[in-house]
Amino acid sequence: MGVSKLSPAISYISFIALYFSFYTVASTSSNSLQDDFINCLHQNTNVDFPLEKTFFTPQSNASLFIEVLKSTAQNQRYLTKSMPKPEFIFKPVHESHVQASIICSKKLGIHHHVRSGGHDYEGLSYVSHIETPFIIIDLSKLRQINVDIEDNSVWVQAGATVGELYYRISEKSKIHGCPAGIYPSLGIGGHITGGAYGSLMRKYGLAADNVLDAKIVDANGKLLDRTAMGEDMFWAIRGGAGGSFGIILSWKINLVPVPQTLTVFTVTKTLDQDAGFKILSKWQQVADKLVEELFLRVFFTIAGNNENKTVAMSYIGQFLGDKGNLMEVMNKGFPELGLSMKDCIEMNWIESIMYSSGFSTTTPPPPEVLLQAKSPIGEVYFKAKSDFAKEPIPILGLKGMIKKFLEENAALMIWTPYGGMMDKNP
Ligand SMILES: Cc1cc2nc3c(=O)[nH]c(=O)nc-3n(C[C@H](O)[C@H](O)[C@H](O)COP(=O)(O)OP(=O)(O)OC[C@H]3O[C@@H](n4cnc5c(N)ncnc54)[C@H](O)[C@@H]3O)c2cc1C
Repeated sequence: MGVSKLSPAISYISFIALYFSFYTVASTSSNSLQDDFINCLHQNTNVDFPLEKTFFTPQSNASLFIEVLKSTAQNQRYLTKSMPKPEFIFKPVHESHVQASIICSKKLGIHHHVRSGGHDYEGLSYVSHIETPFIIIDLSKLRQINVDIEDNSVWVQAGATVGELYYRISEKSKIHGCPAGIYPSLGIGGHITGGAYGSLMRKYGLAADNVLDAKIVDANGKLLDRTAMGEDMFWAIRGGAGGSFGIILSWKINLVPVPQTLTVFTVTKTLDQDAGFKILSKWQQVADKLVEELFLRVFFTIAGNNENKTVAMSYIGQFLGDKGNLMEVMNKGFPELGLSMKDCIEMNWIESIMYSSGFSTTTPPPPEVLLQAKSPIGEVYFKAKSDFAKEPIPILGLKGMIKKFLEENAALMIWTPYGGMMDKNP
């Protein structure tokens, strides 16, 4: 969680359309495995689990099985015909079912993959990259959220999405927020244990920095809270990556203050405009040093047609304050971008979440859409990679990078600045 002095984390996300949407399901019978698992679950929990709502197998209902497998899988590459499929999917409806699942998969010698929001780049929560039978424990039915404004905290279960969490907080208060990821369909379970950064990180740090307590099931099926797991393990689960130290059932997270008025903006430049590289170079020098209320990312996309391909760079900003104050900050620290009052849109925090997260900005749906846990970009096939730059990339390097970028048919690159609280964390 410690962060170096600078600077942009550079993420490359290439979307490669493959369009194989056939599915086959495992032909081997897993009935006896499933029966043994169910019997074992009964022996290890007193809480009932209606089979038709919790167990999904290719044998009992192939199309429903595929529907459930696909339901939150974000990367379609790992759902194609050749990809291994689980023997069955189990959706616990009670925390004790997760404990029992660990005990039973150990006892039966079957690998399990845990899924919360299904946004793992390499599909680790729903596909196996080694040739071994596996099952999925899907936490999507464990999605309770209890916001306690007086205590300034929220308990959120692993199967909830980031969007639901933000919505439930905004329902209770317009001046409280929570630092976590930007993309609303991210799962709380995999996301926070993996580091989780978002638009409040320069002001308040990562979600993991704001975790106060957690409930986790360890490798022996024991349920532990912060006191029971001890401070070493509590440190490890906040950034140590999904599945490394047990199954997270829920997090208690600190709420943070947000102003009633925030300002968002998007300014798009292309590289064939003379100033394109100069503005980008200046962004690299200042983005992590501007006031920590400002979160200013750059999105690179391919624009134009085949003969006239270029790169569009959208500077997308979120400012914790009104547009007058934002203009002062930008005029002083980054006038080269040419931000004007008419680019600035004032809104509240939950509206700013919608603005930043990929929903239409011209006709945004109501914030209740965040409760549907749907991905705003729909079904995509992609390869994604993240990297860190600690020094500004010189113009020569930028030109080489852009040349490579333009070789793709469809690609997206996002530059995200750190600084602020991210420099202060040990
Ligand atoms: C479109 C998209 C947008 C993204 N945006 C952001 C962003 O704004 N900020 C950011 O920081 N990251 C972002 N990410 C990366 C994302 O945070 C990680 O991929 C994260 O691990 C996803 O968590 P999940 O629960 O949705 O995924 P899952 O695929 O369900 O899980 C990811 C990993 O964690 C494990 N896991 C899942 N649940 C649990 C649990 N309860 N306990 C223990 N292990 C578990 C899984 O087995 C898997 O290995 C984005 C990814 C995508 C695809």
